[in-house]
Amino acid sequence: MLSVTFLGTSAARPTVERNVSAMSLVREGETLLFECGEGTQRQMMRYGVSFALSEIFFTHFHADHFLGVIGLIRTLGLQARAEPMRLYGPKGAKKVLGQAIQLGVERVPFEVEIREVKAGEVIRDAGSGMRDAYEIHVFGTEHGGGSVGYALKEHERPGRFDPDKARAAGVPEGHLWGKLQKGESVGLADGRTVSAEGIVGPKRPGRLVVFTGDTRPCAAVVDAAQGADLLIHEATFGEEEKERAKETGHSTAREAAQVALAAKARRLVLSHVSARYSISAEELVKEARDVFRETTVAKDGMAIEVPFAD
Ligand SMILES: [Zn+2]
Ligand SMILES: [Zn+2]
Repeated sequence: MLSVTFLGTSAARPTVERNVSAMSLVREGETLLFECGEGTQRQMMRYGVSFALSEIFFTHFHADHFLGVIGLIRTLGLQARAEPMRLYGPKGAKKVLGQAIQLGVERVPFEVEIREVKAGEVIRDAGSGMRDAYEIHVFGTEHGGGSVGYALKEHERPGRFDPDKARAAGVPEGHLWGKLQKGESVGLADGRTVSAEGIVGPKRPGRLVVFTGDTRPCAAVVDAAQGADLLIHEATFGEEEKERAKETGHSTAREAAQVALAAKARRLVLSHVSARYSISAEELVKEARDVFRETTVAKDGMAIEVPFAD
């Protein structure tokens, strides 16, 4: 299972309807957090997101994206957490997050490791079996000051196993089927060897979920989101404020849709919307759908399942 839950979808400041940026992603029971705007811990409680997480990914250090880490770390400390926490962010992470987590606490009672990441970096297995079936790719975004986005890319899956073909080849049901499924050849009692080829189809791609954070539409996002199952792109403004989007390093809904189209993504979700769209962001959806049909706009508490394409 892979799903995302939007915890905050408002740009720059919270509104009555929307909190500032944060999104949780749950994959096979593991929870990751992307951004942690002010008030994120309460949004996690409200929308049933586990506090048993060990990694938070930050795209940049504008206040609406990270202030919530101060309170979250404090609460985790009060809960007598012992497990280490890892925070990822672009250059400046050590200084900004380092200061943030020390605010208002004498000592964080668990280890907090802060890792600075760069565009092009791939965050692999974090040890202890975590992330053994996917990687996090870091890509550059255009929001000034070395901002980054993150792409969760699952490893390829084995091909589809065809039980009828296995039977036809004379392989009895049981542990030999398991071997074939893994792509191994099996020896039969009559001395024959049967290879997986023809019984197991070609390898199938894993899922790709891309989270841009704040950015202008840019080629790096198009590259990172090639064939994405889910692209979560910021859409702070509508068409009538496209100049403002350019000046402030943000995207319009239409621009986000153009990125999704160029990347041949399967699905686009807009987030980080300006306060003027707080109650209804239908205008943004309409502008984006003219370009890219499979568009929705996030709202706080919205959860999306990401199925396999095949
Ligand atoms: Zn922002
Ligand atoms: Zn920003």
